Amino acid sequence: MTDQERSPRVIEFTDEVALLAALPVQAQDMHMPVVIVGAGACGLSAALFLSDLGVESLVLERDLVPSGSSALSSGFVPGAGTAAQLAQGLEDTPEAFARDIQAKAKGLAAPHLVAAYTQAIAKALDALSQNHGFHWHVLDHFLYPGHQQYRMHALPSRTGQALMDQLQRACQDKDIPVLTQSRVLELWVVKDSKRVGAVGYKRPSGDMEFVRLEALLLACNGFGGNAHLVAECIPQMQQASYAGHLGNDGSALLWGRALGAQTADLGAFQGHGSWALAQGVLVTWALMMQGGIQVNGSGQRFHNECLGYSEAAIEVLSQPKSKAFNVFDEPLLALARTFPDFCELERMNGVKRFDSVLALAQWIGCPALALEQTLEGLRLSKRGAPLGSGFEDERVFDRRLSLPLYAIEVTGALFHTQGGLEIDETCRVQTLAHQALPNLWAGGGAARGVSGPAVWGYLSGNGLLSALASAYIAARSIKQFLH
Ligand SMILES: Cc1cc2nc3c(=O)[nH]c(=O)nc-3n(C[C@H](O)[C@H](O)[C@H](O)COP(=O)(O)OP(=O)(O)OC[C@H]3O[C@@H](n4cnc5c(N)ncnc54)[C@H](O)[C@@H]3O)c2cc1C
Repeated sequence: MTDQERSPRVIEFTDEVALLAALPVQAQDMHMPVVIVGAGACGLSAALFLSDLGVESLVLERDLVPSGSSALSSGFVPGAGTAAQLAQGLEDTPEAFARDIQAKAKGLAAPHLVAAYTQAIAKALDALSQNHGFHWHVLDHFLYPGHQQYRMHALPSRTGQALMDQLQRACQDKDIPVLTQSRVLELWVVKDSKRVGAVGYKRPSGDMEFVRLEALLLACNGFGGNAHLVAECIPQMQQASYAGHLGNDGSALLWGRALGAQTADLGAFQGHGSWALAQGVLVTWALMMQGGIQVNGSGQRFHNECLGYSEAAIEVLSQPKSKAFNVFDEPLLALARTFPDFCELERMNGVKRFDSVLALAQWIGCPALALEQTLEGLRLSKRGAPLGSGFEDERVFDRRLSLPLYAIEVTGALFHTQGGLEIDETCRVQTLAHQALPNLWAGGGAARGVSGPAVWGYLSGNGLLSALASAYIAARSIKQFLH
């Protein structure tokens, strides 16, 4: 088989009869009402929501063990108006959440998806809790950049792996078939109608197997793992480390293009300006939101840290050697230690302690005076005096960074892409003429997100918001389509 044949592709047939006739005999009886491509947070939760509605689905996953970017994530899902918020006495509304999303995206996030997702996410989180035993807790000790309310939901162990483990357990409990080591490569389509009649997936033996279907949901995330597509759509990140799941190779985008689907916001992505490259660990941005700073190799701050971690990736990458140093102190260390990723980083010796500014300056390799001035300037700015360095510090703190200081060397990384297939408010994939394709849905990172057209539009949590909200919406839309 050539490389060309191995990449995701669409195979067209003149009609349903020709499509059926071309299938291997043993595949002609293989039929599922719904097939879902990808067993990440979007795919598995969609299967659960379909099961809640009494609809059978088959999930096809390329990896041996489903993980996706969802398992790599912190597993924090923003939702407004949930039972968990109510239980913690936190008031919030979908409208307030939508305002925060649009404020971050400068009003350029797809309005139909912002409205649909902010309305659906509380129902999705509550359904996972009521029907499948998820215990959500809302992080209520600091606000993520751009959020005006405490709305970040996490499971008790606060990791994306825990989220994926629980989704998989829930699927097992409901006997939902999740066929792993099944990389979907082919969409078999009727030429004129663009109806997908079957998909072909490659098994470990190298053989292709096929399943016929009524409805297809693409939940195979974006194109962060496809260097060609990254270079084409987000050239500013082509040299950056990719911290997401390597298997997210742009299958959905490639199939969509071949089907004549509309795409949108392809230049949007979630970056992160706090990726400990040597250890491959995400350093929580809570450090920055609570008073930590980033300095470059000259010991100077170079951006306003509280604008957001996504755009911070570009700022860090534009510093000498594409690196920066997160600097914080003892009280912030205590906060960071409530995050499992951070504890892992400490175990890997990625967090350094310094008893003097001079020692920290020597480690960074910058003049001690420059670092001293940065810390003095920070103290002034925290009292509200202007920094005069081209950016303002909007944060207000009632204390200063004090010795001992701690530091972590970080770089900017690409986490996941935010552009993708254009979908309507029911997650149906749209054609170039803004019509819905007959039986194709997309969700999570496979679809256009709610972050506008560029990196600065990413509000914390937009990734898992899209994954779970689109799963909930698509399940309902597919149920209606089938009946
Ligand atoms: C380090 C990191 C931290 C993050 N932290 C957060 C956070 O705290 N909050 C947040 O909201 N977002 C976060 N994100 C983003 C978030 O992880 C993603 O937005 C989200 O996981 C996307 O879910 P998904 O189901 O669409 O994709 P994924 O979880 O990536 O799942 C896609 C699945 O599809 C499979 N697949 C791909 N192609 C095929 C194919 N052709 N055939 C079969 N299977 C296929 C993949 O193997 C994968 O299992 C983070 C991302 C990273 C990398």
